[in-house]
This record gives sequence, structure tokens and C-alpha cells, in this order.
Amino acid sequence: MAEIEAIVSDFGGVLTTPLLPTFLKMQDEIGVATGDFGKALKHAEDTHGVNPLFAMERGEISEAEFLDQLGDGLEPLVGHRPHLHRFRELFIGDLDVNPPMIQLMRELKDEGLRMAMLTNNVREWEPTWRGMLPVDEIFETVIDSAFVGCRKPEVRIYEITVERFGLPAEAWVLVDDILVNCEGAREFGMSAVHFQDNEQAIAELRGLLAPA
Ligand SMILES: [Mg+2]
Repeated sequence: MAEIEAIVSDFGGVLTTPLLPTFLKMQDEIGVATGDFGKALKHAEDTHGVNPLFAMERGEISEAEFLDQLGDGLEPLVGHRPHLHRFRELFIGDLDVNPPMIQLMRELKDEGLRMAMLTNNVREWEPTWRGMLPVDEIFETVIDSAFVGCRKPEVRIYEITVERFGLPAEAWVLVDDILVNCEGAREFGMSAVHFQDNEQAIAELRGLLAPA
């Protein structure tokens, strides 16, 4: 097994509290039923030929365009045009940091590993999420889908990631709470830890770094 020299961490759901409770709470606040967001995204994809969430995360459409498309899809489901102007605030504003994983990343940096962050994100949200944790203190580089034009689990974004340090895929571990992102990384040749909780993820990552 190749020696691990670089760690690449996801942001949402790994360095923050889980996204699902925040998402459910946001649905309640906006007044849409479970499943309606999914249906609205599907409606927009049928209309525009691309999932608007994916398009926004690739930086192809703005947050405002995304919310317009989401509103178009939600309107017939909800019976009126829902108020989506608080979408960002309800989503990111409700997330909290996850101190044990941030501490782990600090330790790994101090132990001499190269540190990167790889996030499927929204261009307009950058100042908000960057303000939540000491990104530049821990991470040498950030690969943000909205600025590089591709998203996990597309192969291109893993290529961009490994190119940042000039290390082969085999020298990298991705930590991500979305299974398909981990699977994509593994197919590309990286190791991956599928984050489910702090204890599990820390133990798995430490196990990869110090194989018996
Ligand atoms: Mg995530």
C-alpha cells in the first residue's frame, strides 16, 4: 500500500454538524413538504436539461438563478410562490462547526501531512463558510466546485485535487460524508473514509495512516 502523504477533507457534514437536520428544518421554515425539493429539482432538470443544484455547484448558474428554478418547480407543489430569499441563511447559518474533526485536521497538518479541502459548494456562499473555521491556517489549498467548474464525484475534480500537490492519487485520502464522493475517489485511485460520525471517521483515518 502506498504511503499516505495528503489528506483532502470535505467541508459540509465533516467539518460541520450534519446537513440533514438543517435541511429538514429549512423545509419546515420555507413551508414545503418532504420530497418537494427533490420534485422541484427534477422539474427544473426536465425543463433546463441539468439538475440546477449541480449546475450551481459547478458555478454554471448563480444562486439567484438556482432559487428561481427551484421556485418555478415548487410553486405548483406548494400552491404559491415560496419565499426562498432566506435559503442561504437557513442552510449555512444553521450549520455549526465540528470541533473534533477540525482538531484532527490540525493534528494531521502538524504531523507533516499535506492538507487540502475539496467542497461541492456555492460561489456566493464562500465568504459565509470560510468565516466559520480557520481554513487557511489548516489547509494549503481549497478546491471549490463553484470555482473549478466541476463537482464531486466527477473524475476531473479529483484530477484537479491531486495536481495541486503533484502527488499521485494513491498518496491521498478523501474524508467525505457522501458515499458516492468516496466511491468516485476510490475509483480514481485515492483512499477514502466515508464519514458517519467523529469516532468512526477518526479511527478509520488513523488506521489508514498507521497500517498494522
Ligand atoms: Mg459533505
